[in-house]
Amino acid sequence: MINIILFGPPGSGKGTQAENLIEKFNLKQISTGDLFRYNIKNETELGKAAKSFIDKGELVPDKITIDMLIEEVKKPTDSSGFIFDGFPRTVAQTEVLEKIVKDVLNAPINICLALVVDDEILVQRLLKRGKTSGRTDDSNEEIIRNRIKEYYTKTAEVAELYKQQGKYVEVNGVGEISEISEKLFNEVKKIS
Ligand code: UDP
Ligand code: MG
Repeated sequence: MINIILFGPPGSGKGTQAENLIEKFNLKQISTGDLFRYNIKNETELGKAAKSFIDKGELVPDKITIDMLIEEVKKPTDSSGFIFDGFPRTVAQTEVLEKIVKDVLNAPINICLALVVDDEILVQRLLKRGKTSGRTDDSNEEIIRNRIKEYYTKTAEVAELYKQQGKYVEVNGVGEISEISEKLFNEVKKIS
C-alpha cells in the first residue's frame, strides 16, 4: 500500500495531477474539496455547514472536515493506497490523518508531494478556472487571495512536519501537465 499527500496552494494542480497518479498507481483519491462540493450540491447538512466558509475562501473547521475524511477512509476499496488531495490543511488535521491511516489502514503516509507555483500564477489560473467551473470561490479575486492567505497562515506549516520525517518532496508545478506528472511518478517510484 502507498499513501500520498498531494500538497500545494489552491490552483497548484493537485486535482489534475491526482487523476494521473491514481491511474498510474491504482490509488483512491480523496479530495475533501470535492466532497464538500458534492454535499453542497446535494444540500446535505454537511454541505450547509461547509458552504459559508467555502464561499468566503476560509477553511472549513477541523471537526467537520475530519469527520467527513474518516468516513471516506473507512469505506472498503480495492485500490493500492490513497491520495489525499487538499487534505490535511492544518497541523491538527495532519495529526488526525496520521492516526487514522495507522489505525484504519495499518499503514503510514509514505510521501508528501508538494506542487510549487508562484502566487500570481495561482490567481490567474483560478480566475480562468472560475469562468467555466461554476465555482463561486474561483470567480472573485478577493476570495481567491483569501484562500491563498489561508494556505500560508494555516496550511503551509504542515510541510514542516513531513520535512522533519524526510517525507517531503517539492516538484515545480509550472509546465506541461504530462511533464509534471512524470516528475511526480518518479518520486513515487523512488519510495515504492
Ligand atoms: N476546504 C476546506 N478544507 C478542506 C478542503 C477544502 O476548508 O480540506 C474548503 C476551503 O474553503 C477551500 C475550498 O474548500 O478554499 C476549496 O477547496 P479545494 O481543495 O477544492 O480547492 P483547491 O485548493 O484545490 O483549489
Ligand atoms: Mg482541488
